[in-house]
Amino acid sequence: MRIDIMTLFPEMCETVLDESIIGRARENGFVDIRCTNIRDFANNKHNRVDDAPYGGGMGMLMQTQPVFDCYEHICAQIGKRPKVIYMSPQGKVLTQNKVKELAREDNLIILCGHYEGIDERVIEEIVDEEISIGDYVLTGGELPALVLADSISRMLPGVLANDEAFEQESHYSSLLEYPQYTRPPEWHGKKVPDVLLSGHHKNIELWRREQSIRRTFERRRDMLDNAELSKSDRKILDSLEKETKKY
Ligand code: SAM
Repeated sequence: MRIDIMTLFPEMCETVLDESIIGRARENGFVDIRCTNIRDFANNKHNRVDDAPYGGGMGMLMQTQPVFDCYEHICAQIGKRPKVIYMSPQGKVLTQNKVKELAREDNLIILCGHYEGIDERVIEEIVDEEISIGDYVLTGGELPALVLADSISRMLPGVLANDEAFEQESHYSSLLEYPQYTRPPEWHGKKVPDVLLSGHHKNIELWRREQSIRRTFERRRDMLDNAELSKSDRKILDSLEKETKKY
């Protein structure tokens, strides 16, 4: 998959994308992420890409022309018009299901706003979808774009050790992950649950499933509506519900 990030701060993105798992995935060709500087498409001698909003008000807005020319440049390079996502606090909040859906695309362009945002006309012209990373406002779309690119990349074949690595994780199947422990077996008087040291795989699996349901029940009950639950999962839920009613 190729992901193109359109930004005024490509170095900021590259610094993060060069590190750790995503850095290795890029190096090994499992994902192709490119950052293009929108400022390179400014058509004035001061390389300006923003101006004051019509009607007055605070801050500056990114102008249509450099954003559009940058988009055209990327499309010409790829030879098609990929889906364009604009990172925006006005978009739908990102979920794991949306990440799964976007990971099926061959190409994706992620547009980062800055300052007060982007002239609405170019958003109308090129953007397919607006995505927010939460109900708060950041100074720019770079961090949100990195969040999106990271969450998509780790679902691509070869990026993680195996598919189980993400299938068991929080949100993948509308459950939170069970608690995890590593060496030493005792720390500050706290012991790792015996079952995890037992080597009994079936019991470990059952314990993890129960913990996963318990965590989701305690922390994010809203998620359980979308979770696929077996008969035995429902029994666990029933007893958790009875437990809470007692108090
Ligand atoms: N004036 C805009 C508004 O009120 O909707 C906010 C602009 S914000 C200061 C600048 C840029 O940061 C946006 O264009 C967007 O790309 C990015 N941004 C800020 N918060 C975001 C969020 N929660 N999710 C995704 N992108 C965000």
